[in-house]
Amino acid sequence: MSTPRVEVDLHKIRQNTSTLVSQLKARRINVTAVIKAACGHPAIAQAMLDGGAAVLGDARIKNVQRLRAAGITVPVTLIRTPMLSQADEVVRCCESSYNTEIVVIRELARAAIQQGRVHGIILMVEMGDLREGIMPKDLGAIAQQVVKMPGVALKGVGANFACLSGKAPDGADMRALSSLASETEGLCGPFMQTVSGGNSANLRWALGVEPAGRVNDLRLGEAILLGVDPISGDQIDGLHTDAFTLVTEVIETDAKPVPPLIRFSNPALAKPYLLADMDNTTRVILAIGHQDIDVLGLSMPPGKRLIGATSDHLVIGTNNPGLKIGSELRFQMNYSALMRAMAARGMEIRLIKDRPSRQSGFTNPKPRHLVLN
Ligand SMILES: *Cc1c(COP(=O)(O)O)cnc(C)c1O
Repeated sequence: MSTPRVEVDLHKIRQNTSTLVSQLKARRINVTAVIKAACGHPAIAQAMLDGGAAVLGDARIKNVQRLRAAGITVPVTLIRTPMLSQADEVVRCCESSYNTEIVVIRELARAAIQQGRVHGIILMVEMGDLREGIMPKDLGAIAQQVVKMPGVALKGVGANFACLSGKAPDGADMRALSSLASETEGLCGPFMQTVSGGNSANLRWALGVEPAGRVNDLRLGEAILLGVDPISGDQIDGLHTDAFTLVTEVIETDAKPVPPLIRFSNPALAKPYLLADMDNTTRVILAIGHQDIDVLGLSMPPGKRLIGATSDHLVIGTNNPGLKIGSELRFQMNYSALMRAMAARGMEIRLIKDRPSRQSGFTNPKPRHLVLN
């Protein structure tokens, strides 16, 4: 089997999706399953659909094209405001998109008319994350322009939280978003079909007891794929945190318990540096590096310690003398490590439990950072 590789347990993704879809359904909130961290991998998207998601979301048109090329025909929404230069492709591949700029919406409308389609527009409102979004005071005027524009249809409003600021939304934010949806309807007519309350960071609110108001959609990536709350990193009850596993290969095991004495040819290069505590540990080198993963997003299995990494090498301290050249070492990844690994060239993506299983009895998820050796 080739390394490095990411092993993907599709059954766990299906279960995570269906757990979230059914819990949110009780609150009348739909799930837009966000596939971007898996780079639009069609089998992973299919697992989300098999788990009950009705709509897919991605930030990049390349990923959506990959889904379409694989024959996935469900509605896909672009969750990052489209690039002006990609309007034609966005209209061709996506039923709708999240938007913040009227010039882009005009271009989408032009492309839609040319293609004989109507493209759905969801207006993204700035509500405190200070990343993307229309300022609430400008929302009405922009919505009115969209409503008058042939080729596009105003489908709703949405907001994003906790991406740049790290602060989770609360009930007050959700009430404000609900009122914005109603005010926009009052001002310019069409029913706001979608009121999208944010990403995985909003699950705590969504699964709580406060009324959902007009909020009827969440865009969920991390919670489905990794089963964790993005803010705390904690496991979400009932979800699997180990659907993805990174498998790497050992290429050097020579014990280097003592840092070798380095003589610098140029004394100016000699800098003090911190030495890791190396008691009883030996170093192994794995054939993976910054080019393939976010090294700081790997959880070290018990008895292993991250010493450092370069573009193509990952150096680990271990007290396990059994690791040989060619041995495989497995890691769980956080979201950032996952998205880099899935996008890395030369990474094998190995699907396991490819078919939906008949039995729907859920097993308890395994503890976090489990070593699967
Ligand atoms: C990435 C992204 C999401 C999904 O975020 P998760 O934390 O993975 O749930 C939702 N909305 C927008 C706008 C995004 O960029």
